[in-house]
Amino acid sequence: MSRSALLAPTCTSLLLALALTACGGGGGEAEHGSPGAPGVGDPYFPEAGNGGYDVTHYDLDLAHDADTDPDTDHLTGTATISARATQDLSAFDLDLEGLDVDGVTVDGQGARWSRAGQELTVRPRDGLDEGETFRVTVRYSGTPETITDPDGSEEGWLRTADGALALGEPTGSMAWFPGNHHPSDKASYEVTVSVPKGLRAVSNGELVSERSAGGRTAFTWRTAEPMASHVATVAVGDYDIRRSTTPDGLPVYVAVDPSLAGASRKVLSGIPGIIEWAADTFGPYPFSSTGAIVDRDGDAGYALETQNRPVFPGVPDTGLLVHELAHQWYGNSVTPKTWRDMWLNEGFATYAEWLWQEEHGGDSAQETFDALYDHGERTYEDLWSFPPAKPTSAAHLSDSPVYQRGAMVLHKVRQAVGDGTFRALLRGWAAAHRHGNADTADFTAYVEKLAPGKDFDGIWADWLYGNGKPAHV
Ligand SMILES: [Zn+2]
Repeated sequence: MSRSALLAPTCTSLLLALALTACGGGGGEAEHGSPGAPGVGDPYFPEAGNGGYDVTHYDLDLAHDADTDPDTDHLTGTATISARATQDLSAFDLDLEGLDVDGVTVDGQGARWSRAGQELTVRPRDGLDEGETFRVTVRYSGTPETITDPDGSEEGWLRTADGALALGEPTGSMAWFPGNHHPSDKASYEVTVSVPKGLRAVSNGELVSERSAGGRTAFTWRTAEPMASHVATVAVGDYDIRRSTTPDGLPVYVAVDPSLAGASRKVLSGIPGIIEWAADTFGPYPFSSTGAIVDRDGDAGYALETQNRPVFPGVPDTGLLVHELAHQWYGNSVTPKTWRDMWLNEGFATYAEWLWQEEHGGDSAQETFDALYDHGERTYEDLWSFPPAKPTSAAHLSDSPVYQRGAMVLHKVRQAVGDGTFRALLRGWAAAHRHGNADTADFTAYVEKLAPGKDFDGIWADWLYGNGKPAHV
């Protein structure tokens, strides 16, 4: 499925729902533009994101009634989405899974809408012109869904013992707000969450206000730098809050489930030092605050690099903390163009762990690489099952070829260019695509430009794109 095919005006196939409205005949008026595509053509999640517009800002106003009873785990929301049309549009889609839509306006005027699966199709009263900015407001409510991914892990809206936790990689953010849910469309955010008094709501960015009235407290969080929706989060519950600053003055906001407050204190006090080391190694920190959210073991099945402050189920060790904080550069600031490029997130974050070890009295990256090459399949059974840049399906995006073998690609590049140039690569790559998107071809072109005298063809062919275990170290 190609993007150009999806963007072509059509009354058939995937656009059937739209076609019934847009082309169903008898309207009498000439159509203005054509419907935006229901997906951006991601090779692994074809319905993710939407064509025809680019979001600049999300303003989410949410009220959550935290309760462990699923029938009363209720979310009421108003999403106000500012966007710019990239084609003449008669209609466009937002991604929203579950929940009830109570009303939609475009630039303040009531708009017709319909739903089919995860697609919420909005038909503005007047069409939108290419280049026009517009504001779509969706009022919605209901019990948000937990989404099971192709690999069996759970994301979306997760209920916890004392509230809820929203995790969105790769597609779960559509369970709690409508949007253009694909990493290629990043935007700024303001998220307000009202919760019963006594609980807290933690999100990305910085806490700009906290107001209590009528037995409820509303927390407003602002993220000024571009954020992909899969790293947006909301955590509702009872949290111990610790605020500090890094040596450079960056605010640190850490929220910890009270049952883990003591056990996590030492490792989390390392955050300023890790950020300082990472800024030395990867270049200036890309965002305006950092921190962590620590929920209980079992509240989620994995840690996630949610922007500014990663989420951990249980107390992380230092290696995991380094991994998720490294993602703020690689994944959150430099974001993949599609889910095929996920090794650019995970290879770099895994290599960050290797570098941290190397520089803090552990194994060198060469030793880690050698151990993986010699007998990595004992730990990672599937290590050689596909190349990092070509995962076999959506069910395998989080497998070890994307993580460990992705890091091995970076180590091969380091061997080829030497330590000094590799250091320049780590910083230069993060700077070249800061707050943007990049794919594997951008990466190989960047490396080749950085070290013009070297031949990388063998590394790309064997380590990045080649099937099976490369024959030579
Ligand atoms: Zn990771």
